Amino acid sequence: MTNHDLYLEKISLWLDNRLDAAESAALEAHLRLCSTCRQTHAAMQMVDAQLRQAAQTVLDPSPGFTRQVEARLDSYRQSHRRLWAGMVILLVGSLVLVGVTVAAASVSLLTLGQALTDPAMLVYGLRRVGEFAHQFWLVADLLRLVVRVALAAVQQPLFWGMVLVSFLLTGLWVKILRSLYRRTAVHIT
Ligand SMILES: [Zn+2]
Repeated sequence: MTNHDLYLEKISLWLDNRLDAAESAALEAHLRLCSTCRQTHAAMQMVDAQLRQAAQTVLDPSPGFTRQVEARLDSYRQSHRRLWAGMVILLVGSLVLVGVTVAAASVSLLTLGQALTDPAMLVYGLRRVGEFAHQFWLVADLLRLVVRVALAAVQQPLFWGMVLVSFLLTGLWVKILRSLYRRTAVHIT
């Protein structure tokens, strides 16, 4: 491990506010003298800011959005006919959110790619992305809601009506095919 690698780890801890006063002072003193570590620090700060911004974009509207969807879900339960529309809204909402998430992550990765010329920085960046991805619970939350709406839909008369219609159609087809078979059989004999 070179001297710079040692400081790389310290810079990472510093950005996480995990260095004590003496360690911070020592690092600051080194940054004043070493341009390599100064560049590393600047790049790391940029990555941090990008990821934080991306996380905020994704997470900020989430609590309100989830609550809104939950409230809507309750009202849709009361008016069953609108349930399918609710499901479409939910799916579109989920897709938009996933899209925003992917876009935000792409922008961050692009910045990472530009900032990272050093393998050690790449490792740091990937670790940061991993921590960021950890917060993607929101997507799982939305999927849970979609499943819940789908389950509610199964209880609807409309759904069972469709099941009944498809059963009847299947029975009709079987009858038609049988009579066709019989006619063919008669022709053969
Ligand atoms: Zn250095």
